[in-house]
Amino acid sequence: MRRDRTKLLRNRESGDETYMLRRAAMAWVYRAKRAADAVGFALPRVTVRVTENATDGTLGVARMSKSIIWITEETARGVSNRLGHVVLHEIGHAVLGLSHNPACPLMRAEVGTDVDVEASLSAFIAACKKKIEENACN
Ligand SMILES: [Zn+2]
Repeated sequence: MRRDRTKLLRNRESGDETYMLRRAAMAWVYRAKRAADAVGFALPRVTVRVTENATDGTLGVARMSKSIIWITEETARGVSNRLGHVVLHEIGHAVLGLSHNPACPLMRAEVGTDVDVEASLSAFIAACKKKIEENACN
């Protein structure tokens, strides 16, 4: 998300609270998986780590083409739609290999508080469909 160049965020210590935050993020991963499955794209298993908050406003981080995403505590604690958007956005980087695109509701680098997660989900589904076409035999 906002300034999500790969930088190290410190993973939050494990425990009930971290488990709860991770579960909130995972609920969006499952929603992404169901949406991808519905259009015939098999989303690989995505690992979620909840990190301590960043000092520079970073909301989440993904490692391009590795199925792992890092979500900050602030994001995981925030409103569900914003968390959902960040999870979908980071999966866009991590699994679909997407780069930032200011014209795309899913892959724009900045996120406001009034994020429209349904628009992000629609863009995510479109990106999954495109990925299938790219992978098809010619
Ligand atoms: Zn990003």
